[in-house]
Amino acid sequence: MRTSSVDQIIIETLSKEHAHLTSLQVFEEIRSQLPAVNLSTVYRALERLVKLGKVSISDMGTGSTVYELLADGLHHHLVCQKCGNVMTIGHEEVSRFFATIQQQTQFDIVTNHLILFGTCKACQAASELQKDKTTTDN
Ligand SMILES: [Zn+2]
Ligand SMILES: [Zn+2]
Repeated sequence: MRTSSVDQIIIETLSKEHAHLTSLQVFEEIRSQLPAVNLSTVYRALERLVKLGKVSISDMGTGSTVYELLADGLHHHLVCQKCGNVMTIGHEEVSRFFATIQQQTQFDIVTNHLILFGTCKACQAASELQKDKTTTDN
């Protein structure tokens, strides 16, 4: 099997799903098209695509690494630890941050998909209400 065709099918799968998929999910998706493919081939192809800058790799806090197509340019995410809501942010501010770090440390940053954990606006409002309620109850 030519590696280029595996790469191509992975890219097609990721662009169709337009989401963050684990290597196992990618494997299960493309197995219907390439029954002979095995997990390590998929894994190696994903690693290659990450190195080429075509696919992002990150840990969304779910315990397994996820991959996403970088067709629309680089982006990053804010993940709410309370409701699991995932927001997408652009690369502009982050690239300035990366540039500063690289300048100061001479560190060559490979991370291309940053995940910042926290609490979203809605959950903050909900916990404020909760606090108010507790105060009034006392
Ligand atoms: Zn993403
Ligand atoms: Zn939330």
